[in-house]
Amino acid sequence: MSAKILDGKWVREQILAELRPRVAKLTASHRPPGLAVVLVGNDPASEIYVRGKTKACGDLGIYSEKITPPATISTGDLLGIIEGLNQRSEIDGILVQVPLPKQVDSRRVLLAVKPDKDVDGFHPMNVGSLVANIPAPRACTPAGIIELLRRYEIPIAGKKAVVIGRSDIVGKPIALLLLHQSATVTICHSKTSNLAEECRRADILVAAIGKPRLVTREFIRPGAVVIDVGQNRGPDGKGLVGDVDAEAALELASAYTPVPGGVGPLTIAMLMANTVAAAEQHLCCG
Ligand code: NAP
Repeated sequence: MSAKILDGKWVREQILAELRPRVAKLTASHRPPGLAVVLVGNDPASEIYVRGKTKACGDLGIYSEKITPPATISTGDLLGIIEGLNQRSEIDGILVQVPLPKQVDSRRVLLAVKPDKDVDGFHPMNVGSLVANIPAPRACTPAGIIELLRRYEIPIAGKKAVVIGRSDIVGKPIALLLLHQSATVTICHSKTSNLAEECRRADILVAAIGKPRLVTREFIRPGAVVIDVGQNRGPDGKGLVGDVDAEAALELASAYTPVPGGVGPLTIAMLMANTVAAAEQHLCCG
């Protein structure tokens, strides 16, 4: 068997194409959607991510603003910045790029973002909405995975899904989203015994671990759909390597998201989608 490649760039272009008329309509009738990105300090990886996000905004006609406090900022001063953004009516979404410096209380910062401007979907109130399956901003990477499965018409209901990883950013939310789509979901983590055996039960296997090629052929049931969320540095410190052994996935899976080019491109697209949806809420119903 040779797996069908699930192309995240193709899905991203579809999502962005659908957002364009919505942005145009908002801009013509009110104002463009607005996203504020708070980038504390100058972590090179964070700078690259933020550049990608502001570029996507520019391409779509979304207003974006970058706020760059120094790495030495206190929790109080950062909370002041967030509060200022909460108050500004032309800002629909606030994104605080993580990781934050050690002296900053990340939890307090996360809680300070108004839930209706939390386009990352990380605020506990939005996490509660996810658990209860109530509409609210959803975490971008997991929401992107669901979009990818939907647009490739991969059935979820009734399927056995195994998620490796239980982070708040990927593992837990994707498990809940799959559950809401009526998959039978197992969540695995570093303390799971017989990990490969658990994974071999999966019709849909999601790897969100952060360990290069941890998922080998023993983990993959022939015909499974394999979603590789991992974005690890290559052995030479360059390039991106997934959590899944690509060769094994290509040989055994029925469909597979490569790294790079699979899940990666969807995160920013869903951030744009969350920002546009927030603007629609604020301008039409807020
Ligand atoms: P994380 O917070 O470090 O969580 C990793 C999870 O994997 C934890 O739940 C951990 O279990 C589990 N784990 C670690 N080693 C394991 C092992 N040997 N066996 C089984 N489970 C193990 O990472 P994350 O933020 O969820 O990110 C996961 C990966 O996705 C990373 O490579 C990251 O770069 C990537 N990512 C990609 C995107 C994107 O494509 N846009 C977005 C976000 C993240 P414990 O809970 O027991 O420690």
